[in-house]
Amino acid sequence: MSDPVRIGLVLPDVMGTYGDGGNALVLRQRLRLREIDAEVVEITLADPVPESLDLYTLGGAEDSAQRLATKHLQRYPGLQRAAERGAPVLAICAAIQVLGHWYETSGGERVDGVGMLDLTTAPQAVRAIGEIVTAPNLPGLDAPLTGFENHRGGTTLGPDATALATVTRGVGNGVGDGGEGAVQGSVIGTYLHGPALARNPQLADLLLARALGMDDLPPLDLAEVDRLRRERLRAR
Ligand code: GLN
Repeated sequence: MSDPVRIGLVLPDVMGTYGDGGNALVLRQRLRLREIDAEVVEITLADPVPESLDLYTLGGAEDSAQRLATKHLQRYPGLQRAAERGAPVLAICAAIQVLGHWYETSGGERVDGVGMLDLTTAPQAVRAIGEIVTAPNLPGLDAPLTGFENHRGGTTLGPDATALATVTRGVGNGVGDGGEGAVQGSVIGTYLHGPALARNPQLADLLLARALGMDDLPPLDLAEVDRLRRERLRAR
């Protein structure tokens, strides 16, 4: 039997608002439904960050928790090493900010980020809260991406990062260019909570296909996921 696919859930003790830890469970379940053995490896503030896992997910956080996570990822650069060798990384909300060059908290403090994404984040006048719908820019994704956003930070991309999607409804990166999220190498960042992968199974399968080194995965016929997607697309 081959080794299980190992999915890193990075710092769920400080990053994981709105059930973002569910993204790791969705990845594991979509593998198991295809009879591929998989396990979730939780990496907490008590652990160094391993660089050997197959893919990684990070969730959102409040400003103070986000700062703790940033320091930990700088001290133990396993995530950076893994991304350099092409392991997929999914970063939600505060995690986009943490993986950038720097972010400014709503209290006005500028914090150096991990530097994996060419972007910076500064607080905006109005907090972005609510349902968001976007049109993906990434090849392999054609269904709208939906989620719930709640962030004060607005994110400006540099030339090495591109937006994951264009906002149809909601705020997204919030700096006036209509962009949502960031893609750079094997790292995908998005402001979508949900958890995002429960609501956007195409994105889940794209991450899994990349982790397995496949062009794409055979589709799963999951009526309940489709029902949830339709319900969320109707939400106002
Ligand atoms: N603290 C960050 C902000 O408000 C991120 C919030 C979140 O992850 N939901 O911009």
